[in-house]
Amino acid sequence: MSILENYRIPPTVCPLCGATADCASIDCKREPKPGDIVICIECSSVNQFNQALALTRLSIKVLTELRANNPKFNRDLTKKLEALRLARGWGKQ
Ligand SMILES: [Zn+2]
Repeated sequence: MSILENYRIPPTVCPLCGATADCASIDCKREPKPGDIVICIECSSVNQFNQALALTRLSIKVLTELRANNPKFNRDLTKKLEALRLARGWGKQ
């Protein structure tokens, strides 16, 4: 299990739900960088940092290709989305 580290980022807005984020949790022991794939903790949308570390929407086409071409990325993303869903109680009937 990886340990998440939190980093301050310039305030940015989720392109789907409009929530403001000013920190990012990352599990690879480095600061967030442009191009990183990011899950919004408010709405679980999958976004990407642009050059200014602002959240931009990741198209379904690009996300589908990433998941199909990178099994580790797909497993990690699925685990993180499931953990977020369970933490929010979305998995309970
Ligand atoms: Zn959101």
